[in-house]
Amino acid sequence: VASSETLGFQAEVKQLLHLMIHSLYSNKEIFLRELVSNASDACDKLRFEAIDNPELFQGDSDLRIRVEYDKEQRTVTVSDNGIGMSREEAVANLGTIARSGTKEFFSQLTGDKQKDAQLIGQFGVGFYSSFIVAQKVSVLSRRAGAPETEAILWESDGQGEFSVTTVEKADRGTSVTLYLRDGEDDFLDGWRLRETLRRYSDHISLPIQMLKEEWDSEKSQQVKTTEWETVNQANALWTRAKGDITDEQYKEFYKHVAHDYDDPLAWTHNRVEGRSEYTQLLFVPRHAPFDMWDRDAKRGVKLYVKRVFIMDDAEQLLPGYLRFVRGVIDSADLPLNVSREILQESRDVKAIREGSAKRVLSLLEDMAENKAEDYTLFWEQFGQVIKEGVGEDAANKDRIAKLLRFASTSADGAVQSVSLADYVSRMKEGQDKIYYVSADSHAAAANSPHLEIFRKKGLEVLLMSDRVDEWMLSFLREFDGKQLASIAKGGLDLDKLADEEEKKHQAEVAENFKPLVERLKTSLGERVKEVRVTGRLVDSPACVVVDENELSPHLQRMLQAAGQ
Ligand code: ADP
Ligand code: MG
Repeated sequence: VASSETLGFQAEVKQLLHLMIHSLYSNKEIFLRELVSNASDACDKLRFEAIDNPELFQGDSDLRIRVEYDKEQRTVTVSDNGIGMSREEAVANLGTIARSGTKEFFSQLTGDKQKDAQLIGQFGVGFYSSFIVAQKVSVLSRRAGAPETEAILWESDGQGEFSVTTVEKADRGTSVTLYLRDGEDDFLDGWRLRETLRRYSDHISLPIQMLKEEWDSEKSQQVKTTEWETVNQANALWTRAKGDITDEQYKEFYKHVAHDYDDPLAWTHNRVEGRSEYTQLLFVPRHAPFDMWDRDAKRGVKLYVKRVFIMDDAEQLLPGYLRFVRGVIDSADLPLNVSREILQESRDVKAIREGSAKRVLSLLEDMAENKAEDYTLFWEQFGQVIKEGVGEDAANKDRIAKLLRFASTSADGAVQSVSLADYVSRMKEGQDKIYYVSADSHAAAANSPHLEIFRKKGLEVLLMSDRVDEWMLSFLREFDGKQLASIAKGGLDLDKLADEEEKKHQAEVAENFKPLVERLKTSLGERVKEVRVTGRLVDSPACVVVDENELSPHLQRMLQAAGQ
């Protein structure tokens, strides 16, 4: 390996850097939160690796983050004594974006500053946000366990290239130095930095230290001493009492664990005692991640054991249909050396998963009941995933069914806003079924000829067009004792809803059309099972229906498309 080399950023990084600098400038102090967040993650990773390999600490296990500034050099530096980076890691982590959802993210960019700023936020701001305020960034890092002579210096002006050089570094960990752009001198101020750290990073469980400053009456200004002081609370946020945590602190903590730039929509924080003991702090994001439909999407709930970070994205801690939930679970029972394999088998984990699912469902129920606007937002982002729960979580099926929202002939447009309970409360006298129609698109469902008779009779029909709907419906046969019935299937027994007059009329029509029906049967032959006179149409002359027990045409098409 050459001791110094210059490499080009991956094209996506260049694009992201450009966008970031131009669209996030109004919120430029977030670079500090991102660097501190990375330093904290790096310490978590070291503590975890050291469980099996304590030599990594090399006598220094007091993990901490330090923030310094230098007025002469016009630099701000964030350093940690965490895991550090090898040369390969630095090149990969600080030169490319290797994250699921990257393609979706770039395909959604519009060129509109405000919209793109939001998208970048959802995608994750991260290390590259340094270039919002810095004309040059240098990263000095030594991997824990690597010799002094194998440290690296990564440098870039954020244009298109970066250099990596092998250098010496006395201690392990990473130190990121920002050479500020002209006009960013307000960050060269102890008060400003402390204030920003308290606002954005108070929840960080490690000490964040700065050099103490004292008033020098001769120079008549604050001067730095050589003594470090801790500027944050430095205990894990989820271990504090709820009453001692402000909403702002919860929100900033969320941004750290979820790598999100936006506030969360809701959260639930509980200590659970009993057979299994754990603390959960779980958040519902405001936006679906770009990789919600990726099979190998990451970044779920972080697992801690007695405050020691164990792993990101412990998917066993929540059922799949709650995969959008972010946060922390801290178990008092699991062993520190727990592996993903052990998690799969563990009874403690099973208890945690069940308990956590219940908490999240309660949180959503509360939102649906008391914060209708938030719930609308939530459903728009995550409704399709929640629908998976109907099939996945038999124990909570009834609760999940109540959370479902649908488009309907009684509501406007494609927005899914009608609950099954709403539907039931509007059912007509004599109506004993919940009617729905499903199709490939909302437009196709809303224009289905099957709807005609329902419109005429003023009966509400739910309009289903999400890919997951048919699958979900195969698990959701009834709600509140009422059967869910497709209006495209079987003979509709709407007779109970017809008055005497209508019944007599239908009988007459059937009699009159007998010859026509016979002719159609003969000419269609094998292609149909049956031809019958129906009362279900108003404007259309005929329609095709499937037998009660057969697959709907929509599901047949889906299965064909899937090659079955
Ligand atoms: P994220 O934190 O969401 O993964 P970032 O852009 O903030 O993304 O950081 C990119 C990667 O660079 C991190 O995942 C980590 O591997 C590496 N990294 C950044 N800062 C540090 C640090 N202080 N110590 C060790 N690794 C770091
Ligand atoms: Mg980060």
